[in-house]
Amino acid sequence: MSKDLTAYKNVWVFAEQRQGQIMPVAIELLGEGRKLANEIGVELCAMLLGDNVEGLAKELIAFGADKVYLAQSPLLSTFTTDGYANVITDMINEYKPEVVLCGASHIGRDLAPRVAAKVGTGLTADCTKLEIDAEDKKLLQTRPAFGGNIMATIICPNHRPQMATVRPGVMQKAAKDESRTGEVVTVDVKLAKEDIRTTVVEVVKEKKAKVNLVEAEFIVSGGRGVGSKEGFELLQKLADKLNGVVGASRAAVDIGYAEYQRQVGQTGKTVRPQIYIACGISGAIQHLAGMQESDYIIAINKNPDAPIFKIADYGIVGDLHQVIPQIIAALDNKEN
Ligand code: FAD
Repeated sequence: MSKDLTAYKNVWVFAEQRQGQIMPVAIELLGEGRKLANEIGVELCAMLLGDNVEGLAKELIAFGADKVYLAQSPLLSTFTTDGYANVITDMINEYKPEVVLCGASHIGRDLAPRVAAKVGTGLTADCTKLEIDAEDKKLLQTRPAFGGNIMATIICPNHRPQMATVRPGVMQKAAKDESRTGEVVTVDVKLAKEDIRTTVVEVVKEKKAKVNLVEAEFIVSGGRGVGSKEGFELLQKLADKLNGVVGASRAAVDIGYAEYQRQVGQTGKTVRPQIYIACGISGAIQHLAGMQESDYIIAINKNPDAPIFKIADYGIVGDLHQVIPQIIAALDNKEN
């Protein structure tokens, strides 16, 4: 039986919060959601789930939400797939949004497909672009397909809501305006302890040093051309000089030169620093998918025909083991 699609209105963003902090990806989605809502001519709404999180509603409004749907319960204090999926499914069935956006974080990747299945709609994961069709106002959801060789634009013509996930760092963050006003709608949470099949015993923060690639303004990234794990120490030296972070290609991660958390690209992080220095990286489309939005791209590669030079703003043809020490020396001279 086909749904009455006209009953669905407004753009919704899942306002992921952890321990009372709104995740940056939610602010990025509010930025993108605002544009989409303006184009369709509807409201932008945030769904906020948790326990004692009502204080965050004001922040979401300041970041562009017209309405915040607030679902609170002690059963929602930490994320559980069942708890969150059940409550969001109820909210969608009751309030009928036409678009639902979710961050492709660990939580979002778990949650969004389950919600989509429960409400009987489609989901486009890892979108890199969202637009509104000028004619019929449908959501055009673009993402890399077939190993990144083509970009596919996907629509959801017969079901609602139109659901998409977007990776952290892909969209621009919304600007904060403390003077904005909006409405907070308290959601009646119908959730019982028995609905949740898992128990969170303890939340343990990962101990390893945090690699904050997504927020970094300078990234020095290395590929297979770096040649060894030790070679990455040279990249770290340059990154330290620039107050930056070291990234890596998948090839470098696969050989064990760098940890997975440093991987940039389609199956790694999406970054948009001020300066991205690609060292010994050929420039495969899957790598470009994660860094091509950087303000300035500098490539160091010994092969003048390497595809990375096609998108680089500045290219240095040479052996990175010779070029990088020279850059470091030049920066040292500048400091002295
Ligand atoms: P190579 O392609 O081997 O390039 C090495 C480069 O180093 C060459 O250009 C060479 O000229 C240069 N070089 C060698 N020695 C030196 C030297 N001494 N000085 C200077 N330059 C030198 N890749 C990613 O990066 N991120 C992803 O998220 C990702 N996801 C993928 C998802 C899928 C589904 C698939 C199929 C592939 C994915 N890949 C990804 C892999 C991608 O296709 C490439 O294989 C990979 O990016 C290549 O890494 P690279 O550039 O380091 O290595």
